[in-house]
Formats: sequence, C-alpha cells, structure tokens
Amino acid sequence: MKPKPPKMHKTVFADADGRAPEYWECPACGFLSGDPALRDPSTPCPGCGATGAERRRFPSDRVRRLDERIRQYNRDGDYEIVVILVMTLLETILEDILDRMLAAHGADLRVRQMIMDSQRAIGVRIGKIFPALANEEFEEAAAELGYRDFPYRWRQMRQARNAFIHDSPFNGPRERLDKQMGLDAMQLLDQAYRLFVLLNNRFVADGFTRT
Ligand SMILES: [Zn+2]
Repeated sequence: MKPKPPKMHKTVFADADGRAPEYWECPACGFLSGDPALRDPSTPCPGCGATGAERRRFPSDRVRRLDERIRQYNRDGDYEIVVILVMTLLETILEDILDRMLAAHGADLRVRQMIMDSQRAIGVRIGKIFPALANEEFEEAAAELGYRDFPYRWRQMRQARNAFIHDSPFNGPRERLDKQMGLDAMQLLDQAYRLFVLLNNRFVADGFTRT
C-alpha cells in the first residue's frame, strides 16, 4: 500500500459571499487555491511553483449554474428543492474528486468511466472507492481536515431526502423538508467546496503521479 502523502502546502480558501467560491487549479500539479492572484498565470503555483499556463476555475461552470439556482430557491424559501438540489450537487462534487483521485493513481479515462458507471451507489463510492484511493476512510480524512461532522450530517440529509422522495418501508414517507433542513443544506454546500479543495490538495495535488 502506498503511504499517505504528506501535507505540503497550506490551502487558501476563497471568500464565501453568497455565491459559489472561486478557486484556481494549477494544470501542472492539480493544486487548488482560493488566492485570486492565482488567476494570473504569472503568479507561481504554491504547490509546485509552475507559471505560465492558464488556470482552470473550480467549481466548473456547470456546478456554478446549479449553485446559482440553489441559492435562488433558498432566497425564495423553497427549502424542499434546496435540499434535493444540494444533495445532487454534493454527489456531483464527490464524483469529481473520486475521478481526480483515480486519475492521480494513473487510471485512464476509460477505466474511470467504467468505475463510475458501474459504481453508482453513493454508499459504495464513499465506503469502498474512497478508502481504496485515499488509504483511509472518508470519515477519517474529513476529520483530519477539520470537517469531522460533515460525513454524518451529509448522511442524515441524504436519508431525509430519500425519505421525502421515496416512501420508506421503515419510516414511512417524510411529509416535508423544512426551513431548518434547507439552511443545513446550504451550510453543507459551503463546507463541501472547502472539503473538496482540501481533499484535492491532500490526495490529488500532493505526491501522486498524475496522468
Ligand atoms: Zn502546481
């Protein structure tokens, strides 16, 4: 088993001002930083020192559009839609980080697609694929990075979403997702971006070979 990569560089978070945050990715090493200076390609990457290449923005435009709509539903007080869409967005970012971790382990596009297509269940992605790539449990990694409650709160919210959408044979259908759940979902959303960036900088940008 590969040893866990060491933590090398401090991650700078982007401002959260009621919009999706803006991070910049170094194309040479995959490091993500919220430092706006990184938008300028002549600023050296804090991970590897590379300059010159244009930096990609995280999250992607697709995620930013979804994020924008979620915040509008939240302003409108449409908390049921907020919870459902935040859960969708979190699953998208999880898929993205797993894809990046697979790539960092040398998996090519075909293998990554095959794994993602055949392992659609979120429990399997978190419980099996993540630990195989990170060499530790998702809960452990999140706790080490300062987000100990995140996996539990995410699981609770998934269960509430599922009970709302499907009739659960165990608990019966959930009638509504209330304002508090909507606010919790918005918090999870903001945390999820930060956790993604930390996981990326720990397991993707540092130490592993990228393809
Ligand atoms: Zn770099």
